[in-house]
Amino acid sequence: MQNRWNIIYRGPLSSCNYGCEYCPFAKTKNSRSELEDDAAKLGKFVDWVANQKDRQIGVLFTPWGEALIHRSYREAIRKLSHLPNVYRVAIQTNLSAQVDFMSECNLNTAALWTTYHPTQVSFDTFLSRCRALDDMKARYSVGVVGFLEAEEEIRRMRNELRASTYLWINAYKRDPNYYSETDIRRFEAIDPHFRTNTTYHPSIGKPCRAGYSSFTVDGAGDTRRCHFIDEKPFGNIYRDGAEFLDRLQKRNCPNQSCGCHIGYVNLENLELDRIYGDGILERIPVSGRL
Ligand code: SF4
Ligand code: SF4
Repeated sequence: MQNRWNIIYRGPLSSCNYGCEYCPFAKTKNSRSELEDDAAKLGKFVDWVANQKDRQIGVLFTPWGEALIHRSYREAIRKLSHLPNVYRVAIQTNLSAQVDFMSECNLNTAALWTTYHPTQVSFDTFLSRCRALDDMKARYSVGVVGFLEAEEEIRRMRNELRASTYLWINAYKRDPNYYSETDIRRFEAIDPHFRTNTTYHPSIGKPCRAGYSSFTVDGAGDTRRCHFIDEKPFGNIYRDGAEFLDRLQKRNCPNQSCGCHIGYVNLENLELDRIYGDGILERIPVSGRL
């Protein structure tokens, strides 16, 4: 039985304050009652984590949209970060919210997976949030989508960030021939791990930690191995009690391939846990930028 769990939480929240062209959640809005429901489910999850005293737990919030603009998520991160059984709590965010709340978090534990969306926010505004995080000595990574036309902007961001801040580039994979080898090498000079993200990693039949040491939880407490397999939940954290533990088992992947960082980092053959170590949830390699 694993004593350390990485939990990927995604509640019902599905709205975002940005309008990125490439995203289905752009400019959607939840009603007040939907937000209250999401906050209540989040609070229940936080309480459940607090009761798992025999485990070391990492949590990554992967909302369908932007969650950090809601106080419920800032409060959840603050609370989780101070729990002795939580080794990491991180959230994917567009960094549009003020980051002052981080100063009330345990900064050994709390971290941000931030993404810069150049069509939605000015370079200077995004960078000013990064500087505020630097002043607090907060842990965060910065990501961008690797559109070829964005290369100069990405390079400029790389140069302005502290050298120790990891900037990752997500490959644009909808067109399999989008990057030439020369393009990949240029982006690799900015993000040394870029090439790993350009590939849909063959995964069918391969051992994966998803469903064993890593699993997803939704707002109802239902657990699945990852976000990428269309399957029934294998358990429920609120209903199953000790039985739930027996269902956490090593399994082989039933999908042909896995192309998303939060999925393929669990594929045993890639050994990416050696690169990311304790920074695997917020996407920070052990060695920082390099
Ligand atoms: S910030 Fe993220 S969730 Fe919001 S529209 Fe852009 S890609 Fe989608
Ligand atoms: S390889 Fe990816 S899709 Fe397959 S089980 Fe692991 S995380 Fe899920």
